[in-house]
Amino acid sequence: MKKRLEIFCFLCYDKVIGWITCTLKSEKGCGTMKRFLLLCLIFSLILSAASLTAFADYTLPQYVRIGLMYGNGAVKTVTVESDAGFLLGDYQEREFVKTAETAETCLIVKLDSDGIAVCNESGTLLHSGDSSVGILPNASGMNQVLRVDEVSYRGGIHCIKAESAMTVVNVVFLDHYLYGVISREMSPSWPVEALKAQAVCARNYAAQSLNKHQSQGFDLCSGVDCQAYSGTKAEALGSYAPVDETTRQVLTYDGKLAQLFYSSSMGATTEDVKNVWGNSLPYLISVDNSYEDTENIPNGVWEGYLSCEEATTIMRNKGYDVGDVTDIKVLEYSANQRVVKMEVVGTKGSKVFEREACRTIFNTVTKSQAFTVTGDKGSGAPASVQVTDGTDTVKLIADQLVLLTGEGRETLTGTLCVFDGEETKSYGGSASGSKNKGFQFSGTGWGHSVGMSQYGAKGMAEAGYTYQEILAHYFVGTNLENAY
Ligand SMILES: [Zn+2]
Repeated sequence: MKKRLEIFCFLCYDKVIGWITCTLKSEKGCGTMKRFLLLCLIFSLILSAASLTAFADYTLPQYVRIGLMYGNGAVKTVTVESDAGFLLGDYQEREFVKTAETAETCLIVKLDSDGIAVCNESGTLLHSGDSSVGILPNASGMNQVLRVDEVSYRGGIHCIKAESAMTVVNVVFLDHYLYGVISREMSPSWPVEALKAQAVCARNYAAQSLNKHQSQGFDLCSGVDCQAYSGTKAEALGSYAPVDETTRQVLTYDGKLAQLFYSSSMGATTEDVKNVWGNSLPYLISVDNSYEDTENIPNGVWEGYLSCEEATTIMRNKGYDVGDVTDIKVLEYSANQRVVKMEVVGTKGSKVFEREACRTIFNTVTKSQAFTVTGDKGSGAPASVQVTDGTDTVKLIADQLVLLTGEGRETLTGTLCVFDGEETKSYGGSASGSKNKGFQFSGTGWGHSVGMSQYGAKGMAEAGYTYQEILAHYFVGTNLENAY
């Protein structure tokens, strides 16, 4: 009997319940059996609760390594200050290993012939390393702050010898790093549910980009190439709760970290990733974006003008020599009215751009892929001709007019139309000589339009949606999970 019970205990919750019911009926009054059954029940409840919490099957690192000074920005000397004094040692990957400590509040770290030296302001050597040193403020939690060349960061500093200079890396708690980045991406004055959605996006990005700069000794850089980070000065009162209240939460699809993209505004709908970057992802598809107040936000609705000369220069500078640009034509729109194929015509040839390149080629004027473009044929080009006979009944006079213009011989084709009750004939169209001087662009949305609209998230939050609902709306079919 006991043996059989053990087998059932390790099976699923439903089976245990079913078995308990029938046992209680048949063996009423057996105290030992009841206690054993109760234990089984508790154990199975714990098992089922664990599966509901849905822990992701990977680990988030406690710390991330952010490159502050690297590549051309690497330095020969750097000043590190902390009012709390310092622990000195080295970093092994993301873990600090202490070998000494000092009450000094200002350290000079410099490259010398033996490696890297850490001195006080009087030049007394306190610590050194052949290829790297680690410095951690002698404080914990939110007080663990230091200044590197007068810029304040949380966490510690790893200085790594890189040929004739030092790479300076900030090793910081993942969430403390996020305090500094989310307010660079979204205003901390926005509703907290929108900021929480942004915090999860930033965490996913950091988790996916670990080791992106491994060859330089860190995970992510502090520039826009990764996520713009400038330490504590970018933190605001609104930066903390969104990070703290989503701590260790990541968005997954099919058990893997989802790639969470976002941009400022997107108009009526978001765009399927295949119409922007060409790949397909089941959670990056077009969804409704009607909570975005497109008409009343910065760059929600935009206009731009590009002269033929400017278009020609841009094409040449970007390596596309089609001669002088004479026309820009949209060849194909997506189902969401975004340009997915566009031709730039020049005197020496033409070039067809697809998907995101339709936005980026002339990104001095185009802020998104959702635009129309029209050439300004007419201004400066030969005027079209209108012929009116002054009566209501008019026969077609001619289908074509041949003109001699300043631009040369031109054939205009006539079309019949009615204007103010009068039949008129206007001529235009074949237009070999009617040249564009430039192009008028009109569009909506700002950015690539894949994933989450930040202004859409703001609108959803203002309408009472939670960050879980916002993320589930923009990233279709994803799961919010707790990473270990
Ligand atoms: Zn980077």
